[in-house]
Amino acid sequence: KESSAEEVTARYLEVIGKSKTNGYVTVSDKALEQAKKIDAEGHEGPLAGVPIAIKDNISVVGLPNSCGSKILEGYVPPFNAHVIEKLLAAGAVILGKTNMDEFAMGSSTETSYFGPTANPWDLERVPGGSSGGSAAVVAAGEAPFALGSDTGGSVRCPAAFCGVVGLKPTYGAVSRYGVVAYANSLEQVGPLANNVEDIAVLMDVIAGYDRRDSTSIDSKTEYQKALVNDVQGLKIGVPKEFFGEGIHPDVEKAVRGAIHKYESLGATWEEVSMPNIKYALASYYIIAMSEASSNLARFDGTRYGFRANAENWHAMVSKTRAEGFGTEVKRRILLGTYALSAGYHDKYYLKALKVRTLVKQDFDKALSKVDLLMAPTMPNPAFKIGEKIEDPLTLYLSDVNTCPINLAGVPSISVPCGFTDGLPIGLQIMGKPFDESTVLRAAYTFE
Ligand code: GLN
Repeated sequence: KESSAEEVTARYLEVIGKSKTNGYVTVSDKALEQAKKIDAEGHEGPLAGVPIAIKDNISVVGLPNSCGSKILEGYVPPFNAHVIEKLLAAGAVILGKTNMDEFAMGSSTETSYFGPTANPWDLERVPGGSSGGSAAVVAAGEAPFALGSDTGGSVRCPAAFCGVVGLKPTYGAVSRYGVVAYANSLEQVGPLANNVEDIAVLMDVIAGYDRRDSTSIDSKTEYQKALVNDVQGLKIGVPKEFFGEGIHPDVEKAVRGAIHKYESLGATWEEVSMPNIKYALASYYIIAMSEASSNLARFDGTRYGFRANAENWHAMVSKTRAEGFGTEVKRRILLGTYALSAGYHDKYYLKALKVRTLVKQDFDKALSKVDLLMAPTMPNPAFKIGEKIEDPLTLYLSDVNTCPINLAGVPSISVPCGFTDGLPIGLQIMGKPFDESTVLRAAYTFE
């Protein structure tokens, strides 16, 4: 028997009330009211009455948008992001905003001003990041759907660590209007859900052209039509560079097992080589930090959120930024400013852009011979809260398999493919630009 939007929303709010994950930073006090309105209207949209959780860097009218930072304390956006307009028009009910690494900088959701989020599979472990709140609430049954953002793995990493499905769409497929920029040449909004079908349903709602994002493209993809249970004749490439040093043996075993399952279903696979992947991580971090240093210049205490008291404007800006940003954000602003500064710009930033082109060419070449690439999403399962936070370089290294995809702009999904010691493992399926259909078909058939 179908439930009303109000009943469904009330049930989720009850589960959220008992949460042990710290996945939400704001629970919407308007969710029930919104659900009642949908019931009263007899809304017939594709998501009528479906509750959804939103990462706290995506603007929703009336709900604080903190980006996990003190510097945005008290800031409530006066406009909706493009994806939120689409969700509301489709009848979705917004449950609240989810925890994240500060300004999406991290892979563990530990750099948030609101404290870490716990992984529902083991509350002592991280949920991954930076969209850790979005993945944790889906995994814990505190929301059936969520939106995250993925600049260098931030949808796929937490999806893998929390045992849910997460898609990073092709760059340009989903509008970034109303999403707080960290590194805008790399990031995309992406859906997280319990299964591939739900991902396709969400993509049909949020994707498409938006004139307010100059990088937006209408690929005309029909995501739900891609859900065909058949991989017969599909050619899979297995890039050996994604199975490098430091990979957990159970992760490798589960991913290779998944590839053999595809073979038994009629697909073929071959090993491919992408020689420039080994430079991708360094290139990613230089580009991401450079863009961040520029994007985060707008948080000066004048326009948004937190403002420190000081004797004049310059002192106010300086004090606001000193008190408002956390350690990781400051580290990245400093390194990014350095990489862009006169004298070092050519040496670091331009070099990183050249490497980015080489990485993109590796993807083009590999994907000219095969339909898809498959590899582990993360080289290891979820680690303990506090284990890596003092050592940023080790944390950056865990992004080795996710950030090359953002440099190339291609679509990539993480789907659960096994467990090690009770912790989920993610299989990463990467495709050609705007060929989400093949990525989704493969992921759907695997489920
Ligand atoms: N861990 C990566 C970083 O810190 C990715 C973050 C993201 O995708 N937002 O930059």
